[in-house]
Order: sequence, then C-alpha cells, then structure tokens
Amino acid sequence: RPDGRTDYVNQRFCDMTQADFEHLQDYGWRQFLHPEDLERTQALRQCSLATKELYEVEYRLRNSQTDEYRWFLARAYPVRDEAGQITKWVGTCTDIEEQKQAEQKIKESEENWRVLAETVPQFVLTVRPDGSVEYLNQRWYDYSGSSPEQSLGDGWRQFLHPDDYERTVAHQRHAHATGELYEIEYRLKDGQTGTYRWFLARAMPVRDETGHIVRWFGTSTDIADQKRTEEALRQSQERIRALIDSNIIGITSNEGEEEVLVEANEAFLHMTGYTQEDVRSRTLNRIKITSPEQAPLFQSALQEVAESGQHTPIETEIVCKDGSRLPVLAGGVAFQDHPRQIIGFMLDNSARKELEQRKDAFISMASHELKTPLTSLQLQTQLLAKQLARQGISDAAPALSRMQVQGKRLEQLIGELLDVSKIQAGRLEYTQEPVDLDALLREITDTLQQIHPSHTLVVRGAVQTGQTSLMGDPDRLGQVFTNLLSNAIKYSPGAQTVEMDLDTSEDAVTVRVRDHGLGIPQEQRDKIFERFYRATGPRQRTIPGLGMGLYIVAEIVKQHGGTITVDSEVGRGSTFTVTFPRKREA
Ligand code: ADP
Repeated sequence: RPDGRTDYVNQRFCDMTQADFEHLQDYGWRQFLHPEDLERTQALRQCSLATKELYEVEYRLRNSQTDEYRWFLARAYPVRDEAGQITKWVGTCTDIEEQKQAEQKIKESEENWRVLAETVPQFVLTVRPDGSVEYLNQRWYDYSGSSPEQSLGDGWRQFLHPDDYERTVAHQRHAHATGELYEIEYRLKDGQTGTYRWFLARAMPVRDETGHIVRWFGTSTDIADQKRTEEALRQSQERIRALIDSNIIGITSNEGEEEVLVEANEAFLHMTGYTQEDVRSRTLNRIKITSPEQAPLFQSALQEVAESGQHTPIETEIVCKDGSRLPVLAGGVAFQDHPRQIIGFMLDNSARKELEQRKDAFISMASHELKTPLTSLQLQTQLLAKQLARQGISDAAPALSRMQVQGKRLEQLIGELLDVSKIQAGRLEYTQEPVDLDALLREITDTLQQIHPSHTLVVRGAVQTGQTSLMGDPDRLGQVFTNLLSNAIKYSPGAQTVEMDLDTSEDAVTVRVRDHGLGIPQEQRDKIFERFYRATGPRQRTIPGLGMGLYIVAEIVKQHGGTITVDSEVGRGSTFTVTFPRKREA
C-alpha cells in the first residue's frame, strides 16, 4: 500500500519464509529479517516512500522452520493512477544467496592474493591490458621510495636504468600486443641509495572465459647477487680459457667414468700427435692414452682425486698417436662431479727422463769400469803382501794393510753404486732362504763393534733362535742393518752408545736402531730414502757420504715385504724402525 503496509505476498514468498500470509501481512514480514539488516532496510524503505523513487535493498530472510537465513535482493516500484497518485508499490524479492557466496569467495581469494603479494620477496604487480600498472605491492614502494601516484600507470618506468629503458618498453609493447609471456632483465633504481640493482621481470596474462586478456600479473625478482655470481663465473671461465690457450702445458678435460677427452689444448695435441678431430669424435680416453703398465698408477691417482679433489703429480707415460710413448709429468684436478669432469695437466718430461737415463747409464758404466781395475789392484796388493812376508820384509806391512783397508772402502762404495744402478734397472736379485735375524744381527754388531770401538753397540730383546726367522736374502738383509748401524755411528759423533732392539710378535719382526746423534729435521725425513739425497745441515755436511745407503736399504726392505720409518729429534738422535712380516710365503 502507499503507506508501506503489505497487503499481498505470493505463495513463493510464504515458501521462502515457511510462514502463513497472516504472519507476513502489514509489517509482519519484518520479523523474518536478519536483525543486522533491519535498520538499513527500514531506512531505505522510508526514503523510497518519501521520495517515491525505486526501492532496492539486499537483506537476509529467515526460514522459520530451519532458522537459516538466505540473502535476497528486494526491489519495489510505485504504480500510479492517471492523476499521478501512487496507488501501490509492487515488489519482487529474488534469492541471491549463491551469488553472495560466490562474491564472498572471490573476496576471500582476493584477500589471500593480497597477503601473498605482500609477503613474497618479489615485487608483485598487476597491469591493465593497455599496459598501465594498476597495483604494486608494498615491497616496491619500500624499494623505490615512491608513492602510488608516482608509480602506478607508467610512473614506475622512471626507476628503470636509462640503458634498459627502450628495450624494456619495446618488450612490454610486444607482449601486450601478442599476449605472449613476458620476461626481461633490467635494472631498477634503489630509492634509498640511488644505485641500480638487476631484476628479472616476468608477467603472464590473465584471461576471461572468452579468452580476452583482463589483466597481466607480474613479478620482479632481485637477481643482483645472481648476476654478480654469473659475472664472477664468466670472468673465472675467461681466466681458465686464457690458461688453457696459453699452451705452456698440455691440458685436457676428461669426462665421465671412462674419462673421455672432451677438450684438449694445442700443447697437448702437439706433444702427443693427436688432432682436434680425434678429440671432437670423442674416441680418445684415459685408457687408450695410458700404457697398460701405467694403469695401476693412474688408478691410484684417480682414487686420490676422488678423495681429495686432486692428485699429486705423477711421472708417467702417454701413448701417442703413432704408438710411441712420451714421458710426462701429469697432474689432475676434479672440476665437477656430475658428470665427473677432471682437468688433466701434462708436462713433457722426456728431456728430464733422457738426462736421468744418461745419468743412470753413466753410473752403471762407471761402477763397472771402476770395479775391474780395483779388483786387480786388490789382488796385486794381496800378492805383494804375501811375497814380502815370504821374504821376511816387514817394513812395508802397515802401509800395505792401510792400502787394503782403503781398497775395501772403495770396493764397498763401488758395490753400492752398482746396487743403485741395478735397482734402477730392476735387476737387483734376491735369494730366498730362511734367515735367523737374531743371529744375523749379532754377527753384524760383533763385526761393526770391532771396526768402531768409539761407540758401544747395545743389542736388546734377543730371543730364542728360530723365533725371529723369516724368509729372505741374508746378505741383503745384512746390508740393511750394517747400513743403519753404520749411519747411527757415523751421525752421532760424540755419543757413546747405539742401541738396537728386536721385537717379535705373532706376525711381525721389528728391529729398531737408535742413536743419540744429530737427528734429522722433520721436512727431510722422507727425502733421506731417496736416491743420492743427503741431509743439508752444516754438521751433516762435514760427514762423508754419497746418499745411497738408505735408498738401497729402503728398496731391500720393500722387496722383503717390510716397512721402514724414522723418528727423530734434532740434536737428540734418531730411531729407524724396520718391520718385516713373519709369515711370508716362500
Ligand atoms: P750417506 O750417509 O752416504 O749420506 P744415506 O742414504 O745412508 O747416505 O743417508 C742419507 C742421509 O740421511 C744422510 O746424508 C744423513 O744426512 C741422513 N741420515 C741417515 N742416517 C742418519 C742418522 N742415523 N742420523 C742422522 N742423519 C742420518
């Protein structure tokens, strides 16, 4: 009615509220309104009645059976007579519950989106189809130090690096024109410091159900650190390239388990005769260029690479293209794990090897050449001594005996030289027989004690004969201990004793030779077992020697399956420890 009272509702309205007409007529329907909507609805109604304008409101109505509310859109318009007087209001009430729920969902999802956009570490933006920015997250405003007025639309572009401006704008235009995914790297100005940082910008179009682009959704990620790393990587790669191309040493890059050569520099190719074509065809690998005898050496080098990332340089040989062998000094560094990549370095070692061979040949020849006249000299001396004795001439006897002693020394030296060259050539021979080490050591100490009365040789830990027997070459083993004891005496001038003790266990025999002499500096302890190496201390230098003894000793010990180590304190003395396994198969 014109006064606002309800005088008719249809059946559907009764169904919606599950109420009878009596309960709905006049103002009765109001009791079904949601309390929160009552006031607003009243006000709008009053307003429409007063202004006689269209009435429109959204409210919730209760179903009296279930007590559940649903959203409705209520509209009413006035009906007038010829005179223009309102005779009644006709209204409709439409169920909009589903629409409301959908709207709510959108609202929630939009809220989620905002939260997300504000939490991610990137700049987040949405762009209208025409390319103007409609939203930027707070992170952007914090970085640029700008306000929405300054940045929205096209404003943000003022923060682009001048050198990136054109490129970026063109790229954007292209994306908007084609609808293609947009991705570009550019620099943006930090509002705080005025410096530029690199960003990776990406944007993708959001389309409606008809396929039209409704907006673009984009992010900008700070990649300054990544860029810096990339740059550092590029520079280091350039440096490596320069090193490889320098061709001072042969360099190869080997990949995978097979160690296929995937790259080789000119120096390597020049040394070995292989070609870039051989490398490119991937037919060269470590096994192919390694001689079979060297394979175990390479295997242990590889093992070292696996454990420590690189291996100590080894002296080895490379099989060249023409089948010849080239002596090289080779090193390797693990470059990458998956796939495994090793960088190999190779230095042509042939000149040094040749020199070494010449030296070995010289030593071998010289020792043979020296031995023959010496042997005859010794024979002649003996003969002369006998003749003079027979004739009863005794004046020359002391001189002759000194000659014999010196001859013996010379013989020993030449013998050592011969041993060294035999070891070098792999021709030092050994007998295999049971050796009673205990008895052997006693014999040696007795002899040495007579020659060197200056020191007392103390032997400890002697055990029952038979307990210390092992298989080996008695002369060579004798040589080992003669040498160690002689050194102990020689390098402990002023000391009174040299001790030797013998220890046996179930499976090993250990002999220690201890002196109270000069000692050996830590850094020289490994080297003294090398050929011709002599310690460099000023005191040591005054003591004569050629640096062959310990080399021969170490070789003999090794050939008997044993080990030798040294422990020492400079100025206090040294202890050499030799250990042999007891149960060696004959
Ligand atoms: P040589 O004694 O002829 O020089 P060796 O091979 O027997 O050669 O010994 C190598 C070096 O080791 C010696 O020059 C010496 O400096 C050092 N050395 C060996 N034994 C001892 C020791 N008992 N005490 C101190 N230094 C030693």
